[in-house]
Amino acid sequence: MRISKEELFQSLRSFSIAIEKVYDQSFLETKELIYGLIRVEEGKKWMVLGEKEAVRRDPFIGKYYHQGLTLKVCDLNWENTQVLMECFPFTRPKSLKEFPITFGAGDRLGLATPGHIRAIRKFGIRPVLAQQSVRENNQTGRDFKRVIQDAAWAVIQERYESGYGADGDHLKSLQEVKEALDAGVSMITLDLSERLSPEAFSDPKEEIEKRFIREIEEEDRKVLLHLFLDKEFSFEGPVGFSIQYTEEEVKRNALLFHKGIDFCEEIYEFLLKQTGRKPLIDFEISIDETPFPTSLASHLFLILNLLHRGVRIDSLALRFVGEFQKGIDYRGEIHDFRRHFSQHRLIAKSYGDYKLSIHSGSDKFSIFPHIGELSQGRLHLKTAGTSWLEAVRLISFCNPPLFREMFRMALNRFEEAKKFYYVTAEPKRIQKLDHIPDSDLSQLLDQEDSRQLLHITYGFLLKSNLKDRIVKCLTEQEEAYWSLLQHHIEKHLNALGLKKGE
Ligand code: ZN
Repeated sequence: MRISKEELFQSLRSFSIAIEKVYDQSFLETKELIYGLIRVEEGKKWMVLGEKEAVRRDPFIGKYYHQGLTLKVCDLNWENTQVLMECFPFTRPKSLKEFPITFGAGDRLGLATPGHIRAIRKFGIRPVLAQQSVRENNQTGRDFKRVIQDAAWAVIQERYESGYGADGDHLKSLQEVKEALDAGVSMITLDLSERLSPEAFSDPKEEIEKRFIREIEEEDRKVLLHLFLDKEFSFEGPVGFSIQYTEEEVKRNALLFHKGIDFCEEIYEFLLKQTGRKPLIDFEISIDETPFPTSLASHLFLILNLLHRGVRIDSLALRFVGEFQKGIDYRGEIHDFRRHFSQHRLIAKSYGDYKLSIHSGSDKFSIFPHIGELSQGRLHLKTAGTSWLEAVRLISFCNPPLFREMFRMALNRFEEAKKFYYVTAEPKRIQKLDHIPDSDLSQLLDQEDSRQLLHITYGFLLKSNLKDRIVKCLTEQEEAYWSLLQHHIEKHLNALGLKKGE
């Protein structure tokens, strides 16, 4: 349908519905119809405009208005999201296997994605725009469908046609995997933490001997010893090294991992059954939430076992040396991190060139340049909390009284929130709120203790009676929110040394 922008807006004004805003980028024309995102009093809607018959034939479900032309105004619900993905396939999450660098930008509020897209589209990488863990969904009262739905409408809003991923993050059971796949995720991150046995590295030797025989079947015991004993695994390069396992080390690693490895195999086979011989789902394994850093020998042990069982992974989240706390910079010796990271990278490169995946990747500015350099162009990095913190920053500017209420609530709920996240924040070190003038409130987002406090209490704030005011403030100031985010995510990508351009 040929119509100029001016005619379009003219025509929209003639209907008996007050349109507060049109999202220019989202407007799409087909032969008969014009589609686009608009905002009305009730919120964001999808509109379809054209001759009466053409609008009726169109599959989106909505309310009709007639005024010469016909306008259909549609809710951004799950049904219409499915139609959107059918009509405009670039809004459907897809596997990003072929892209060497991917960036996870979790959006806990469902309001951040346009800002993420505006930053990421300038660089030659691909985003995972829908990325939430079960823990995050429980905290925010969302589910995988809602997360993907919010991402899909943001993708059409920004007309981002390059493709994006959706990650069911930190899944811990087949049931959770099924729910995520049902919603249409293109990536599974399998969390092995509940199936690992870290005591395998603290139990005394005699206990290990007993457990090895008790817990692992005879056939598997033979295979394990055969795979690892009397062999030298050498890795060449500036940080080259070689690994030889003693019998005790094989047994300790076997006990650490065997339930986790069984679980990976079970899920991988399930994915194969769902999608045919090659899974079209990106498959990540995460062992980043173990009590100690992943040793080279353990990494190699895990990957060789997975390969032996025919499991192919796209990325692996290890626990690296130093501390990756939520929402603040890396803590640790950069020199040690460099060595540790490049040696793990060597193992990954040798056995399938899967990506190392960095979790809790928000704001690790001091090591981003090193990660960018040493990952040699293969990397997945996940962020989420930092986008929530930018939302809180915006509220500190736009609505200081609301910010103060949020901050007080966060202080009250800190002890409970600490059960879910490892942080070293100490509320006692935070300046008294009453002593801070409105104009300085945003500084609380720059200090580590208060930053972590606000970071980990998001679930309590978003389930409280403050939620509606938080969402209202961010919606009224959405353009400001997206530019803060764009700036902040670009800062991450620049620090990684990524180049602009496709
Ligand atoms: Zn993680």
